[in-house]
Amino acid sequence: MLQLNSHPSGKHFLQIPGPSPVPDRILRTMSLPTIDHRGPEFAHLGLKVLADMGKIFKTKHPVMIYPASGTGAWEAALVNTLSAGDHVLMYETGHFAFLWTRLATALGLKAETLAMNGQEANGTPTSWRHGVQAHLIEQRLRADTSHSIKAVCVVHNETSTGVTSDIAAVRRAMDEAKHPALLLVDTISGLAGAAYEHDAWGIDVSISGSQKGLMLPPGLSFNALSPKAIAASKTSTLPKAFWGWEEIIEMNKTGYWPTTPATNLLYGLSEACDMLLDESLPAVFARHQRWSTATQSAVRAWGLEIQCAEQACYSPILTGVIVPDGVDADSVRKVIYERFNCSLGTGLGKVKGRMFRIGHLGDCNDLTLIAAIAACEMGLRVAGVSLQASGVQAAMDCVQANPIPALKV
Ligand SMILES: *Cc1c(COP(=O)(O)O)cnc(C)c1O
Repeated sequence: MLQLNSHPSGKHFLQIPGPSPVPDRILRTMSLPTIDHRGPEFAHLGLKVLADMGKIFKTKHPVMIYPASGTGAWEAALVNTLSAGDHVLMYETGHFAFLWTRLATALGLKAETLAMNGQEANGTPTSWRHGVQAHLIEQRLRADTSHSIKAVCVVHNETSTGVTSDIAAVRRAMDEAKHPALLLVDTISGLAGAAYEHDAWGIDVSISGSQKGLMLPPGLSFNALSPKAIAASKTSTLPKAFWGWEEIIEMNKTGYWPTTPATNLLYGLSEACDMLLDESLPAVFARHQRWSTATQSAVRAWGLEIQCAEQACYSPILTGVIVPDGVDADSVRKVIYERFNCSLGTGLGKVKGRMFRIGHLGDCNDLTLIAAIAACEMGLRVAGVSLQASGVQAAMDCVQANPIPALKV
């Protein structure tokens, strides 16, 4: 049967918050021949990507690179540092935080969830519209006088909602409470899009993935470690084999891995790190911030609500758009996909159907973002949503008024 839109002309607008568009330069590097992962040439690649990822995480301590999606690195962080029945404090910022809690429970940990209390409005839980409230963590840790809580787990950039939490504030809260728990942070979608400082923020295990800010295809994930996390891994008793840090740390010293690494994804990673570090991380973060501001102004012009209810927590990586009552966000997404060849993120978990997500991360630019906003504007109108004003115009005004600093030659 003839599918009219199976091969639309032009490039697809992949505006989901991961996988993000992969630059041609990275795709080309990945097409190089696969080499011997025990040969001399491989060690250069291995040592380079490990050193580069240290710069991206801002750490002097070991970084693990796994051939797995982000979920694998979530599991690795827990099984390396914790023991069966250990009490962990999780903070429910959204669907990804919820999924991590479910994973912790499945591993035999006693997961306690903190969340902001609040009224549910329009079927949208208030707790999923804010960042981590560090004072709630401090209160809970102060009450834990026996230090039964072994780890605090938080999501840096909650991809299901478009809310970025203040991780340095969580560290300060833990220090204020004088509590020895480990700090585990999911920055799967935050890394290389929003400022992140593994060492300076006192994080024990950072978790990330390849397909978001790093602009790679899915398939790699990461743990950045602290000396305290490495010490915990020596005594923790949750079963770990494939994920175990010890053997990997040892082999990584010479640029190799105990098992077969994802060689071609590592070519891509090397290229991605070159691109990010050449541009400089502050410039990368500034351009994400700029797209976020433009997208926020578009949503406000439409007269719609942004999922993130706190200005200080707006994600530089994606924006969640709440649709009016009686409108199904997924029907709007479907129109946009079918008519305008643009993919947007679906509402996940509790907010399914109530909102959609515009990704503005990685290899985007002002015009791809404005195109995506145009697709949303047309799709919303086709779906019968009445809009107050043009979001495209608002976004154009915004990027026009804030030029990117001229390239240094
Ligand atoms: C994408 C994402 C995950 C899940 O990672 P997978 O690669 O799908 O396993 C977890 N947490 C956050 C914050 C994410 O953005």
